[in-house]
Amino acid sequence: MRIEFETVSCPLCETDKYEPKLKVPDRFKVEDGNVHQIVRCLNCGFVYLNPRPKAGCVSQFYRSEGYQPFLSTQSSLNVWDWIYRWVRGFSVRYKRHKIERLKSKGRILDVGCGTGEFLNEMQKNDWETVGVEKDEQACEYAQKVYGLRVSTHDLSEFERSETKFDVISFWHVLEHLYAPKQTLEICKSLLDDEGFILVALPDIASFDARFYREHWVALDAPRHLHHFVPESLRALSHSAGLELVKFEQLILDAFFNCLMSERLIMSRKLNRKFVFPVYLLRGLLIAMTSLAVSSGIRQQWHRFGSSNLYYIRKEKD
Ligand SMILES: [Zn+2]
Repeated sequence: MRIEFETVSCPLCETDKYEPKLKVPDRFKVEDGNVHQIVRCLNCGFVYLNPRPKAGCVSQFYRSEGYQPFLSTQSSLNVWDWIYRWVRGFSVRYKRHKIERLKSKGRILDVGCGTGEFLNEMQKNDWETVGVEKDEQACEYAQKVYGLRVSTHDLSEFERSETKFDVISFWHVLEHLYAPKQTLEICKSLLDDEGFILVALPDIASFDARFYREHWVALDAPRHLHHFVPESLRALSHSAGLELVKFEQLILDAFFNCLMSERLIMSRKLNRKFVFPVYLLRGLLIAMTSLAVSSGIRQQWHRFGSSNLYYIRKEKD
């Protein structure tokens, strides 16, 4: 199938004036030589992919071997994949603890739930869980292996139900969506008045993003369409009638982003065995520097963690 691209205006302020920022290869197809353009809006500074694949043909970019959210559906795994799966066990418990600090039990909707490992953790701890996942293979895996209630439907399908959700989560999903504002508006209608939307996102203003530039793994072109920072997510939330209450760094994600960025650089080197320890050490060092730099600055809106977890709720009158 031929892949079609479209040029778009700024998804945040709708201005069509922008400047090129980076040229980035697809990290799973570096060898084919194609690059995708990331631009910066000249009006509001928002950073986004432009041009981008049309929504109808983007799914083919998600079926690459090694694409982490769908690893469970793959038969052959390399050493990095095994490490990822091992760390994922800690990660899902960490996410549950974050949520249970807000509410000990309730009803959760996970948007873009992948193969369902996080929802499975919640279900095992007596949460009522619902997931949506566009990838049919991942959706089927979550249903069959974990017995989860997961569907490939649009979020708007849930608007018919009277029951509201206590938590709606987006673990590294919002940056993939073609209509993030409309998605948040729907979430607002699905959310209990006291509920929270949790959004995990990489931060393009972070120390590690600046260090790795076009090699920064979280650019993930052309799957990541939007690159939010705290200010732009606050503006987007406000436009959807929501309030961004606070955010914090995701520590594991800083190590993931840095080590995977080093892996990307290393994949282009001839003498990989020799340089591996050097790149591993540098990745760890950059991750720790990124965490230290962003936790050392007190001014909340200018903290730039490698990835942040944002807490969003309905705006109070
Ligand atoms: Zn703009």
